[in-house]
Amino acid sequence: MSLASPDLGMPLSHRHRRNLLRLLLLVTAVFGFVFVVVNFAAGRYGLMLVDLAITVVALALSPVVRRTFHLRRWCMWYLVSIYAATLYALASPTTSITVFSWVLVMPLTAHLLLGRRLGGLFSMFYLVVAASLFVWRFGIDFALSTPGATANIIGVTLWTYLFAYFYEASRESAEDQLSHQALTDSLTGLANRVQLEQAFGRLASTATLPLSLLMLDLDHFKRINDAYGHATGDAVLRKIADTLREQTRGDDVACRLGGEEFCVLLPNTDNSAAARLAERLREAIEALHYRHNNDVLPLTASIGFVSTTKPGQPLDRMLHAADEKLYQAKFGGRNRVVG
Ligand code: GH3
Ligand code: MG
Ligand code: MG
Repeated sequence: MSLASPDLGMPLSHRHRRNLLRLLLLVTAVFGFVFVVVNFAAGRYGLMLVDLAITVVALALSPVVRRTFHLRRWCMWYLVSIYAATLYALASPTTSITVFSWVLVMPLTAHLLLGRRLGGLFSMFYLVVAASLFVWRFGIDFALSTPGATANIIGVTLWTYLFAYFYEASRESAEDQLSHQALTDSLTGLANRVQLEQAFGRLASTATLPLSLLMLDLDHFKRINDAYGHATGDAVLRKIADTLREQTRGDDVACRLGGEEFCVLLPNTDNSAAARLAERLREAIEALHYRHNNDVLPLTASIGFVSTTKPGQPLDRMLHAADEKLYQAKFGGRNRVVG
């Protein structure tokens, strides 16, 4: 049995939806049981059996939902079952008109469990069927003869729907922003180490061999900070990041490891292609001629790189090997490539 958390590596919403579904299962079990009693007392034995089944299933599912790796599937099953049971109650001629008040919570539940798009589709479908059942049971004349009540129902339903939609839309965008921040270096906008690790995990498990990794460290960067100030140093780091972006392909992952140290992960790149890219990068940095006031800053970088054709190499080992090559480049006089 795997001990890994089923929310590990998943979007933030996963954990939030898991907790929500467990809460909903509990509430469903409680209400299901209340309706078992109510329907038994009213002699509605068909509905009573449906509610009993819902109560038992809701209780049995709670521990399953806690550990499942297929949360979305369970959310859908939950919604489909609860929708089906409610529609059955709406269609039963003996139930009270107030049973239609359950329709109002459906858009909320669907959006929170399934997100904006799928939740929106589920809600739309459900609302259309529920409205049709209402007209079928009470007739269009009933709705027209009580315009105030009808407007209230439509208004509250629309309000709930829009609230659920906009709540979920802003939650999704906040989540996107958070995950972007968690994976990005704030100074340069390059990938950070966390994103590098994720990309490496993805690339190492697919057919992207040979895989190369290049490590780059600016030469005597401290002198730039000391002579021109930290803000200029930061501007230089951003310029280096731009150069990395310009010189690499879309599949490559350019990352700032920290300070003035960068790394580029190169899928489908053998040793000689990595050597060519490293040399091109070194030349591009040397040719930057970055200006501060009237001075041209002396910018050069040392680069170490390694390549592998073997699958399953750990990232740490490749970083360590590239770091050793980088050290050799520094030791050999800087502004050079060693691989
Ligand atoms: P070497 O050629 O041996 O790499 O020398 P170096 O001066 O580049 O290396 P060292 O490790 O001595 O200094 C790195 C400097 O990078 C020191 C630190 O002030 C600077 N640094 C680290 N992070 C940042 C940053 O975010 N912004 C700026 N402006 N400077 C930074
Ligand atoms: Mg340096
Ligand atoms: Mg350094």
